Amino acid sequence: MRILARLALLFVGLLLPPTGWAATDEQKQFAWSVVDRNAAPMAKIGDSLFYFAELGMQEFESTKMMKEVLEAAGFTVELGAAGMPTNLWARWGNGRPAIAIVTEIDALPEGSQTPMEFSRKPLVAGAPGHMEGHNTHGGVAAAAAFAVKETMTRYNIPGSVIISLGPAEEQLISRPYIVRAGYFKNVDAIIYLHIGDDSATAYGLANYASISPSFTFHGKTAHGAVDPWDAKDALDANQLMDVGVAYLRQQLHPTYRIHRVITNGGIQPNVIPDLAQTWWWVRDANMPDARETFEKLINIGKGAALMTGTSVEYQVTAAGWPQLGMKAIAEAIQVNIDKVGMPQWSEEEQRFARDFQKSAERPQVGLRSAVTPPGGRPQSYSSNDNGDVSWAVPAGLMKFPAIVPGIAIHEWHAAVTPTSSIAHKGMVVGAKVLSASILDLMTRPEVMQRARIEFEQATKAMPYFPVLPPDAKPPLDLNRAVMEHYRPEMRKFYLSERPRLF
Ligand SMILES: [Zn+2]
Repeated sequence: MRILARLALLFVGLLLPPTGWAATDEQKQFAWSVVDRNAAPMAKIGDSLFYFAELGMQEFESTKMMKEVLEAAGFTVELGAAGMPTNLWARWGNGRPAIAIVTEIDALPEGSQTPMEFSRKPLVAGAPGHMEGHNTHGGVAAAAAFAVKETMTRYNIPGSVIISLGPAEEQLISRPYIVRAGYFKNVDAIIYLHIGDDSATAYGLANYASISPSFTFHGKTAHGAVDPWDAKDALDANQLMDVGVAYLRQQLHPTYRIHRVITNGGIQPNVIPDLAQTWWWVRDANMPDARETFEKLINIGKGAALMTGTSVEYQVTAAGWPQLGMKAIAEAIQVNIDKVGMPQWSEEEQRFARDFQKSAERPQVGLRSAVTPPGGRPQSYSSNDNGDVSWAVPAGLMKFPAIVPGIAIHEWHAAVTPTSSIAHKGMVVGAKVLSASILDLMTRPEVMQRARIEFEQATKAMPYFPVLPPDAKPPLDLNRAVMEHYRPEMRKFYLSERPRLF
């Protein structure tokens, strides 16, 4: 009887419409053969971006090259969406589901470093550089999207594959603007891609919400000795706000973070400042709590202005929701992570990694040889502006293993290996996991349906609201002067050959 029931279930299963029609192993193998065949151009894309090393909002050479590469590969590419000239949106296909790869390609200030050198040796002294490895993101995104396109064509899979390269991730700027402009309205799911030292995915709240406002006090200047009673000291107001925030700390959730720098504290002591400014960052484990703290800061600023007879204004320059990962998508990604495995590191690469770790005073553990099991990642305290995308559309999160474990990012050591064979091999793994996961999302409606239900529950429990003021405009001049200063010297290192996917 039990056997009969099982047989009956099996038949019912066979008769059902092909909802369980997963991307077959054959389709994934085909996508991976496209990735393998493009390992060299993919590495070249990453290396070219490394030498462009452009800061946020100034990714002009980087996006120009990405546009050329993707157009030659058959994609339709738009530059300048949502009012940002270096915002890139590339698409192949018109059908649904539409699956987008979301990532960024910006560098960091003063990160210039000669590849493979263990001691500090900038390519151009003082210039920006890729000391987080965002240069690899462009290569992985392009190769994975191309492999998906080729597989869709060969196996007649309906849908669209999209790449969204948002500017200025390092300053948490662009994604709220891209979301506001409606670019993700007709997207069914995204996978957010980032370099790491392991092959991993995550779900739930993956990092922190952040709001970045500047508070500016306007007062009245006077001589500090001759007629100080005529002044309204803007710096005093600034300091009183700082004290007020210090007293606030006891009343906040244990998960909060507040940090600040004084960006204008006056000119010299005998000139009472009529202008003072502090740049604050408020963070928390979720956006409603971060916004509540921010609103308290506004009141403290007003109080400080009242006490000193000055006036206060604030400007939110950036705000990002925490990343929200869908478990259904993470499970699909994890299967591909397990299937692809880690890169086959050579003994030479392992030795290099241990030597590098030693010279950077880190534990000499070498490169990871096993993928990260599911669910092992706690919520991180960092923030990323792509979080807003994950509240607009169901998101999967993935990291690919292309950096040496223990080497801290946002520090020049991390600029030593983003063009190495370690990075290149990790990129191949990343592009394989990514392409297979996108194919899963395109061909497994049950995964998409579970992700959609999960997404609706999460966003009903915590509805999204934009933190950017409605009249906020992207700061297009951000980093412009620095980039214009260094670009002529940096140009000498640009790679001459343009990569081409095939
Ligand atoms: Zn990053």
